[in-house]
Amino acid sequence: MFIEPRVGNGRDAARRGWIEVVVGSMFSGKTEELIRRLNRAKIARQRVEIFKPALDTRYHELDVVSHNATSIRSTPVTFPNEILLPASSCDVVGIDEGQFFDESLVEVCNQLADHGVRVIVAGLDMDYRGKPFGPMPALMAVAEYVTKVHAVCVCCGEIATYSFRKAASAEQVLLGETDSYEARCRHCFLEGQQEKTELHAADALKH
Ligand SMILES: [Zn+2]
Repeated sequence: MFIEPRVGNGRDAARRGWIEVVVGSMFSGKTEELIRRLNRAKIARQRVEIFKPALDTRYHELDVVSHNATSIRSTPVTFPNEILLPASSCDVVGIDEGQFFDESLVEVCNQLADHGVRVIVAGLDMDYRGKPFGPMPALMAVAEYVTKVHAVCVCCGEIATYSFRKAASAEQVLLGETDSYEARCRHCFLEGQQEKTELHAADALKH
């Protein structure tokens, strides 16, 4: 498990920024981990702000809410550069659901860190096909610290890294439909994908 290099900037005259990325599949606890770090920063009397994509409206508009209901107030934004101004007066900036932002999130996080802000981004590393998701892979490359948290495979109980979509829809983003997904390990993810392909082929034959 990741241990913060520092919780706050202490009494340093010179502020030093960096980027932390917390990734994992659905149900891996990445938002909980983001909130844990932000709460610790608040205890250290850091000025903390949280941002999330405006399209993530599953829960209350102004809260980053994780699945176990610990929450921190947050600001929904449409484009990453809207974070720059409000974040400039922060010591620590949290960004949730980073995968839903466009690639410019990488540059925004770099700018903030360059100016002394500690930036913590949580997000899905892979989409339901097992492909790298949005700006997350590039963020992992430029981050000082990357933590991959794991879920538990609902089929076999092994460590899970995939978000398996039970429904057949081909859209990359299915919002507010956590019921449509389950965490799976590599083996069970592959099995499920094969089953879906076979079902699809059987369906095609019927028509
Ligand atoms: Zn499994």
